[in-house]
Amino acid sequence: MNILHGVPLGMSHAPEHESALPAEADAVIIGGGIIGICTAYYLAKQGLKPLVLEKGRVAAEQSARNWGWIRKTGRDYAELPIVIEAQERWEELAAVCRDDFGLRRAGVTFLPKDEAQLEKYEAWARDFGEASGTVMLGHAQVAAMLPDAVNPWGGAMHTASDMVAEPFEAVPAIARAAVAAGAVIREGCAVRGLERAGGAVSGVVTEAGAVKTKLVLVAAGAWSSLFLRREGVSIPQLSVRSNVLATAPMPLFFDGAAGEDAMSFRRRKDGGYTMASLGVNHLWVGPDAVRNLPHYRQLIWGGDFGMSYRLPAAKDWPDGLRTKRRWALDEETPFERMRVLDPRPSDAALDRMLDKFAARFPKVGRPKVARRWAGMIDTMPDVVPVVDHASIEGLSICTGMCGHGFGIGPAFGRIMADMMTGHTPGHDLSRFRLARFDSYARLELGPDV
Ligand SMILES: Cc1cc2nc3c(=O)[nH]c(=O)nc-3n(C[C@H](O)[C@H](O)[C@H](O)COP(=O)(O)OP(=O)(O)OC[C@H]3O[C@@H](n4cnc5c(N)ncnc54)[C@H](O)[C@@H]3O)c2cc1C
Repeated sequence: MNILHGVPLGMSHAPEHESALPAEADAVIIGGGIIGICTAYYLAKQGLKPLVLEKGRVAAEQSARNWGWIRKTGRDYAELPIVIEAQERWEELAAVCRDDFGLRRAGVTFLPKDEAQLEKYEAWARDFGEASGTVMLGHAQVAAMLPDAVNPWGGAMHTASDMVAEPFEAVPAIARAAVAAGAVIREGCAVRGLERAGGAVSGVVTEAGAVKTKLVLVAAGAWSSLFLRREGVSIPQLSVRSNVLATAPMPLFFDGAAGEDAMSFRRRKDGGYTMASLGVNHLWVGPDAVRNLPHYRQLIWGGDFGMSYRLPAAKDWPDGLRTKRRWALDEETPFERMRVLDPRPSDAALDRMLDKFAARFPKVGRPKVARRWAGMIDTMPDVVPVVDHASIEGLSICTGMCGHGFGIGPAFGRIMADMMTGHTPGHDLSRFRLARFDSYARLELGPDV
């Protein structure tokens, strides 16, 4: 499949999964991104028949728009063991999937913008290098790795065992494997809300009818908080726009993934590079952003949010001014009004990134751009996700992946499948509990590297 032309990011291609809506399912998963699809795969491997309901198309939102980095480098201490498991799961999935989605241990390198950042990298590598295989490279080693660069970097943080994969292809491939294992997927089918009996989940109501189930997972990416709020569950999730471009195939100058402030690049399997304006994110301030401000105060005042603010959010976005927050189960919901969240990329930000790249790599020059896009990254105030059962019996949540969910997704999928079926998750998940947002107490922020 051609990464640039084979998978449009939107509704313009026909659905691949059009299963009839069953009257009943062992479990219902809301959202066909990497989290929902991997959970379905691992539930099906347990012998269950899970149903994935996706309002648009499988992996048309964040899970296809990302850079394709699968990294341990720089991760939060609580995520590290999980992403180590995820890398094993990625290999397991690549072996069972019919389609090649370009999984490689190509290495990930963080290039520091200044001396202070280099020191942060050194501290992270000192604390977690043994577990992650991360090492610090000196100036000369960076020069050897990036011979075409002017190399202003005093060093770099590097993990040779980190992976890359093609996001446009990976999640659709895993979805096919999940179906082969017994999962049912239906695209173009929004879940409007939950049905309950005696305080426990008894089913979901979709735009195409109701499905009975005792187990529901909300893995709805940027839409999770909007969905959950109607059910009385509050999570302070916001979404920020991140810009990406794909170059046309070009001569090889680096075979892995690397990034400096405001610029990153990853070699794709078609010989082009996926490049992004790392750290240049835009937040459109809507009612949820205002309401959640106290939760985000540490990030905002600490200057670690790396954000510029915009007004107002586009029509029908999850935090749009006029986006409905309440609806009856027999009326159209925001999920049907916006099948695929497809923000326009900032050409200015991407052009600045290309200028920076050309200055850093004068021998390579300004690459020819084949395609530009953006995605809305769902984020949490402490930059780690929510992975927990909700107070409503039968309802689980796995969301707020904060720009890290592609790489860690297969392990969270395995974990959710086990949690939903009463097995032990195999990792300490206390850092990801929902109750940490019950008050405005100070949060433990994820690493700022
Ligand atoms: C530009 C960009 C770059 C990134 N780079 C990386 C990277 O290099 N490495 C990495 O690990 N992560 C990266 N990420 C983050 C990663 O892509 C996400 O964390 C991950 O894809 C989130 O997966 P998800 O399944 O939680 O959500 P999503 O992929 O957003 O899927 C959620 C799905 O739920 C559906 N949905 C929502 N509401 C409903 C409803 N009511 N009914 C039915 N369906 C519903 C949506 O349509 C959507 O398809 C990046 C993200 C972006 C945007």
